[in-house]
Amino acid sequence: MSNMYIWQRPLWQQFIEQKQQQRLPHAILLSGVKGLGKAEFVEYLVASVLCQSTKDNGDACGTCHSCQLLSAGSHPDHIDITPEQAGKQIKIEQIRALKDKQQLTANVSAWKTVTISPADSMTTSASNSLLKLLEEPQQNTVLILITAKPESLPITIKSRCQSFHMATPDNEQAKQWIKANTQNIADKDLDKLLQLAKGAPLAAATLLNEQGSEQYQQIEQDFQQLLLGDVNPVTLAASWQQYDLTEVMNQLQLLVKNMIVSQLSNKGDVDSKYWAISDCIIGTLKLISSQHNINKILLIEDFMVSVMQLDNRANT
Ligand SMILES: [Zn+2]
Repeated sequence: MSNMYIWQRPLWQQFIEQKQQQRLPHAILLSGVKGLGKAEFVEYLVASVLCQSTKDNGDACGTCHSCQLLSAGSHPDHIDITPEQAGKQIKIEQIRALKDKQQLTANVSAWKTVTISPADSMTTSASNSLLKLLEEPQQNTVLILITAKPESLPITIKSRCQSFHMATPDNEQAKQWIKANTQNIADKDLDKLLQLAKGAPLAAATLLNEQGSEQYQQIEQDFQQLLLGDVNPVTLAASWQQYDLTEVMNQLQLLVKNMIVSQLSNKGDVDSKYWAISDCIIGTLKLISSQHNINKILLIEDFMVSVMQLDNRANT
């Protein structure tokens, strides 16, 4: 617990109490926005469930056979299910394989653990297959579903899990953490950054680091060209497809916000074009989060063409 993020501690206490009262649920749904360290939290949780000699406070000991196997990534009683390729879906075959392994008895620890992350990336058939598992819970097994988008999961699955919601820290706590863990940053920038990161300190710290990165600078430069109408959307979309589209759109959102703020303070009003660009960004973000197999290039091209058309309209 000593290494645990401060905002995770209330949830950890809840888990430890249940564990000590031997009331561990068969299935846990851990939700919370991106950038709160949910994966690390689950690593702690799994280690504590599997450990052969937990400390008095419920933490894993870190030295027993189980703890060693787990940190080496070869614990026979733990299964991690993630998409085979980043950004893709979790397939039914992966859940079926889990079913087969579930039938085996635990051989090192007294418990077995399974994590599924991100749980919202399961295909419909994978979800249905998982539902069957949840309907027939195995003895001494904890299944942990991790998601930033619980609303995307079927109600039938959610109703069979005990919900653990990781709340974002309050603004002051988040700011304190970021200040203590990143380079110097002004309070007003910190507010903007946290807003963009939906209050999640780790996401804010990542954004901050990216601002100095080559990718960030390249995108900013490209975007300025786009605003001038001085690009070929097809060429530029091809070059942007190497990036994480959500990250790019979040960055553009921040850039546009800054432009709006600086126009307001310099001229007292804002060119309506910037509000319209902001709408285009929000629209694109919605499309990204609502679909799994998006045509990335097409989406970027559409975005770029929309932005350039705004410009034409403003000039005519
Ligand atoms: Zn241990």
